[in-house]
Amino acid sequence: MRYGSRTINPPVSGIREMFELADQYDDVINLCIGESGFPTPRNVIEAGREGLLKGYTKYTPNAGVPALREALSEKLERENHIKADPQKQIIVTAGGVEAVLLAILATVDEGDEVLVPCPYWPDYPEQIRLAGGRIREVPTYEKDGFIPLADTIQKYITERTRVLILNSPNNPTGAVIPREELEKIRDLAVQYDLTVISDEPYERLVYDSRGHVSIGSLEGMGERTITANTFSKTYAMSGWRVGYACGPEKIIQAMILLKEQTSSSVNACAQYACIEALKNTDRQVKEMVSQYRQHRDFMVSKLNECRRISCRKPEGAFYVFVNIQETGMTSYELAKKILKEVKVVVTPGTGFGKYGEGYIRISCGPSMEELERAANRLSVFFSGME
Ligand code: PLP
Repeated sequence: MRYGSRTINPPVSGIREMFELADQYDDVINLCIGESGFPTPRNVIEAGREGLLKGYTKYTPNAGVPALREALSEKLERENHIKADPQKQIIVTAGGVEAVLLAILATVDEGDEVLVPCPYWPDYPEQIRLAGGRIREVPTYEKDGFIPLADTIQKYITERTRVLILNSPNNPTGAVIPREELEKIRDLAVQYDLTVISDEPYERLVYDSRGHVSIGSLEGMGERTITANTFSKTYAMSGWRVGYACGPEKIIQAMILLKEQTSSSVNACAQYACIEALKNTDRQVKEMVSQYRQHRDFMVSKLNECRRISCRKPEGAFYVFVNIQETGMTSYELAKKILKEVKVVVTPGTGFGKYGEGYIRISCGPSMEELERAANRLSVFFSGME
């Protein structure tokens, strides 16, 4: 049977192969997963349960339930300094993945170029391809803390460039773009009339005192920024599949029309649970962030004790991006060898685009006990390396 040309290409990254290989071993520790090891806060689970009992079991408006959009509008103003009309400028989506997909579908046409700082979250290239667009990878470098620099971005702008995707804090590097650089990027976006899709799932997971800045809050960016987000990371709710986006009315309305053709509306009781997450989880979120900071500090110090590898302390998210260039192996070869010899699954850097070669990503999402066991195994592995 024939399949359509939009069917996703098999990724060249080796991530899928890593999962398949991992299945062949017992007692594997998985540091590949970009997910929280913490449970969803109890009061959020209760709110979801109550939602079901109250009868929130039917379709909701395509844009999301009004009470959640109201709560999101308040949150966006309070935390992100973005003004978004809950009636017209906010959409609730099936996870962050759908927020980004709809934003791309609503802004990218056949042949349009989309700039994406690399290394990047691997869904971006495929989503751009689905929209008929072309990705242009903008390199980011360890020496710059993996921050996408406006000067570098400018070199990749052509007549076909329409959209720039930013992801700060970044998956996989953990880089947090400082305000000064965002202001320079803002100037570029205005000069070249670019739309910015700012994907911000890790906004609360910032360990740097400068904190997170949403580019959509900068002067002149409200009319050209779609801010995408998800409940998955901040509230440990990845399985609830709720995300959201805000931006200019015209684009959000286009995304709402597109949503009718994708998932129509998001699970009703999950949306009610999200209202509770936005209003009553500040203490639990702060506690999780403080624990992630400990996970990060622990992993970075353990990995930097290992021979032939090094890593910088990421300012945000829950990943450590480890430089493996001294091993002389490709990231995929090394990931396979680590799995085979000490049964730890890590993600080869090429899973995040071509500038990810020379690195592996380690997730600090799992529990401290898991990380301690994994760190011991990795230390045995690297001490045995020639
Ligand atoms: N954007 C980035 C940068 C991510 O890392 C992820 C998930 O890992 C997503 C979007 C998608 O989030 P969700 O799982 O809520 O769909």
